[in-house]
Amino acid sequence: MRALVKAKREPGLWLEDVPVPKVGHNDVLVKVLKTGICGTDIHIYNWDEWSQRTIGVPMHIGHEFVGLVAEVGSEVTGFKPGDRVSGEGHITCGNCRNCRAGKRHLCRATQGLGVNRPGCFAEYVTIPAFNLFRVPEEISDEVASFLDPLGNAVHTALSFDLVGEDVLITGAGPIGVMGAAIAAHVGARNVVVTDVNECRHELAKKLGATRVVNVATEPLDEVMRQLGMTEGFDVGLEMSGNGGAFKQMLKSMIHGGRVALLGIPNGELAIDWNQVIFKGLLLKGIYGREMFETWYKMAAMLRSGLDIAAVVTHRYPISDFKAAFEVMRTGQSGKVILDWSAN
Ligand code: NAD
Ligand code: ZN
Repeated sequence: MRALVKAKREPGLWLEDVPVPKVGHNDVLVKVLKTGICGTDIHIYNWDEWSQRTIGVPMHIGHEFVGLVAEVGSEVTGFKPGDRVSGEGHITCGNCRNCRAGKRHLCRATQGLGVNRPGCFAEYVTIPAFNLFRVPEEISDEVASFLDPLGNAVHTALSFDLVGEDVLITGAGPIGVMGAAIAAHVGARNVVVTDVNECRHELAKKLGATRVVNVATEPLDEVMRQLGMTEGFDVGLEMSGNGGAFKQMLKSMIHGGRVALLGIPNGELAIDWNQVIFKGLLLKGIYGREMFETWYKMAAMLRSGLDIAAVVTHRYPISDFKAAFEVMRTGQSGKVILDWSAN
């Protein structure tokens, strides 16, 4: 089968022939239809320091997908060939305290699809049946191909009650703008999104932000004043990984505010702890998706009118994968989709 392989320890990816993966007793083989490109895949493409430490070569990558079940292992129940599925890309150990308590998102030994084991940028992918998610009929193939990052946004946004609250989202990448759509959908009062990339402002507006702020040119305080906000944001969703954005968020929070942190900073980061202590802020780190409550909530919201389809800005057949990675690398894109079904 064809797969997008990290074949050499240098920048790039290569479309190569590799064997179709074997299906273990508890695994399912999925014929891949569409895949989403994630920031992680760009790190691997660029061969940055993190990927050099983390990725074994050669390996095909990718973890956002939708496809059809092609084959099920002998012990698998509940799925059959032809079922349309996406999948949770975090494969948990099943043995640690959190796994056994049903808190799989807190597993201490998580393996990442397309990071620690062969991924879904391929004609076929195999994952444990436990990780499969059956896609409801109303959800399109395209949207189903990026339920994984939508799940990141859902996990972060639903960490705190947003109803009637003023919400600050820092970072209008694909996940930040989907976070804005979710916050609006569940009934936040104001959803203010910050970014320094103008192309992403448009996307955030389209998906439901009340106000988009270019923090490089416009003071956030002024925007808060214009919106009639006097005490600060009730909830902060950090989705940029940028230290400056996080510091600004802490400063802009109300006393007793709640902050969920999804964005991954480059390295260690100094913050003003006085903001946290004297304001009594609550900080929560977010990794992945809750298994499988996040998936359940996400599907339910998509069926009840949450519309995030516009986050997709580019689509390419797999033969054009280079163009897809190039547009992602420019930052002038939302979600970029690779189609494996077209020839
Ligand atoms: P992205 O890189 O596309 O988006 C980040 C955005 O932040 C960019 O648009 C960038 O212009 C913006 N930004 C930079 N400086 C800023 C500033 N000072 N103020 C406001 N915005 C600023 O990333 P994404 O795919 O949308 O993911 C969002 C973040 O979540 C990334 O840091 C990613 O690594 C992280 N992530 C975490 C998890 C997890 O499980 N914790 C999973 C997926 C992604
Ligand atoms: Zn575990």
